[in-house]
Amino acid sequence: MDEQKDFKAGYISIIGKPNVGKSTLMNALVGERLSIITNKAQTTRHRIFGILTSTEFQMIYSDTPGVIETSYKLQESMMTFVKSSLEDADIILIVVELGEKNVEMPILKHALESSTPTILVINKIDQGVGSQVLDKTTHWNSLYPTLEILPVSAITSKNTDQLFERILELLPVHPPYFPQDTLTDKTERFFASEMLREQIFLYYKQEIPYSCEVVIESFKESENIIHVSSLIYVERKSQKGIVIGKGGQSLKEVGTAARKEMEAFFAKQVHLEIFVKIEKDWRKNDKSLDRFGYLN
Ligand code: GDP
Ligand code: MG
Repeated sequence: MDEQKDFKAGYISIIGKPNVGKSTLMNALVGERLSIITNKAQTTRHRIFGILTSTEFQMIYSDTPGVIETSYKLQESMMTFVKSSLEDADIILIVVELGEKNVEMPILKHALESSTPTILVINKIDQGVGSQVLDKTTHWNSLYPTLEILPVSAITSKNTDQLFERILELLPVHPPYFPQDTLTDKTERFFASEMLREQIFLYYKQEIPYSCEVVIESFKESENIIHVSSLIYVERKSQKGIVIGKGGQSLKEVGTAARKEMEAFFAKQVHLEIFVKIEKDWRKNDKSLDRFGYLN
């Protein structure tokens, strides 16, 4: 790739409470602008959901689905995750809904107090009645006088162009982090399995995640929906019980979280099927390891 003197590149972290529209907003910012390249990669540094590269800039969006919207017991480790994601960020977008009045969650406060350029995005203004949008903007402004505030609607794309332009302005001058051609070497199956694996890591304790191997058996995309059929291999019967949980509750929660991630990632409805199988001591078994792709 040609080095360009004034090329801009950076990480944009999107955070907020569940359901405020983070993923929808990211799709509005990235999804509809796929003119040149878009892709998603997974690194240890960051979870990257959308990279938008042009001849002048590279925006690396990091949505944080499942991060704040996890169960209470996971909050602590999640906090660490979000914190490190925020530390890496060049720009932070804090998304709130029109109805919200304050951010009492510590993690959001942390972002508000950081020195990273931060924009408070008031989303869902299409639901605004009367002077509500103006009132809310004034309200947030009085709470955080120095904070940039932008009311948008991710769904109708109102003001999202303005937000995009602002992000572009704030983006630091920096060479691209990712060459375009390395962005396409992972398959959709790979990302699907990573997303399920990640939820397993977030959900289960101790050795369980390490005993699990995820295999995507089929990935069928049609116009409106993607059907994903997956297998979780565990090493022992007791682990199978834990993974499935009482009445299937654990697997259901993991599956729902993974499906949501996939839907945000692929920007399409996903039907996710998960089966749990025992492959005795697969971690010690060369045949299994080979089949799972560990022995290349
Ligand atoms: P996330 O959990 O923050 O990622 O939120 P999502 O992007 O998944 O959106 C949560 C819900 O809010 C979905 O039902 C979206 O359709 C809806 N939503 C997102 N943005 C808007 C918006 O601008 N206006 C309205 N009315 N609904 C929105
Ligand atoms: Mg989301």
